[in-house]
Amino acid sequence: MASVELLTVQKAYGDLPPVIRDVSLQLADGEFCAFVGPSGCGKSTLLRMVAGLESLSGGELRIGGKRMNETPPAQRGVAMVFQSYALFPHMTVRENLSFGLGLAGVPKPTIAAKVAEAARALQLDALLDRKPKQLSGGQRQRVAIGRAIVREPGVFLFDEPLSNLDAALRVQTRFEIARLHRQYGRASTIYVTHDQVEAMTLADRILLLNSGTDVARHGSVAQCGAPLDLYHRPRNRFVAGFIGSPK
Ligand code: ADP
Ligand code: MG
Repeated sequence: MASVELLTVQKAYGDLPPVIRDVSLQLADGEFCAFVGPSGCGKSTLLRMVAGLESLSGGELRIGGKRMNETPPAQRGVAMVFQSYALFPHMTVRENLSFGLGLAGVPKPTIAAKVAEAARALQLDALLDRKPKQLSGGQRQRVAIGRAIVREPGVFLFDEPLSNLDAALRVQTRFEIARLHRQYGRASTIYVTHDQVEAMTLADRILLLNSGTDVARHGSVAQCGAPLDLYHRPRNRFVAGFIGSPK
């Protein structure tokens, strides 16, 4: 488990206007926070900065109280689940789940025990010897989630994990993620989605980013708070419109 703190974080590519602007957030141990907003507002960029896949142009990132601006991704105690699963196609499910732990030098019996536990939690037991191409989209996404779980990270990062799934599977996997967060509830979670229903049902806290033609505000925080707070007390029309607050 780990807290995540963003302190006036900035991101700009070259001389272009910033895509992330003065974002600050204090996420406590075990908290589930959704980054939401329209396509292009900077959600993935912000998440990738927490993961260490993008550098910060300004501000500070702390995980578990330690400054992480320059820390390599593997040493941040985070695990990320992508929209596209990113499984190794030539490896079985078991090998996909084991791979990261093997790299980290975890002893084989420990790896086997952790993989068995994750497989049980995600109902993957019967699929351990299959390759990704022999799985459905929902099963692949469960493997991707399992691969994050076996590493027992302090922080889980999800980038639109449900967007490649059909509607029924999206709902089922959403419940699955909620259940896993309760089960592994000491880890903090940041969950990127453009779907306000996902954010409202999963998150303890929502951070909504501004987006649009006003370059001076693009990528800044429109509002951050509990889901019902944004719903009942939207700060402006953009927030109300995005969250779907009653008129
Ligand atoms: P979201 O995930 O909310 O859809 P992104 O974080 O992917 O948005 O992108 C935010 C903005 O940053 C977009 O306007 C995008 O065009 C821009 N952007 C992302 N990556 C780069 C890059 N490598 N170079 C320049 N602009 C980028
Ligand atoms: Mg994105």
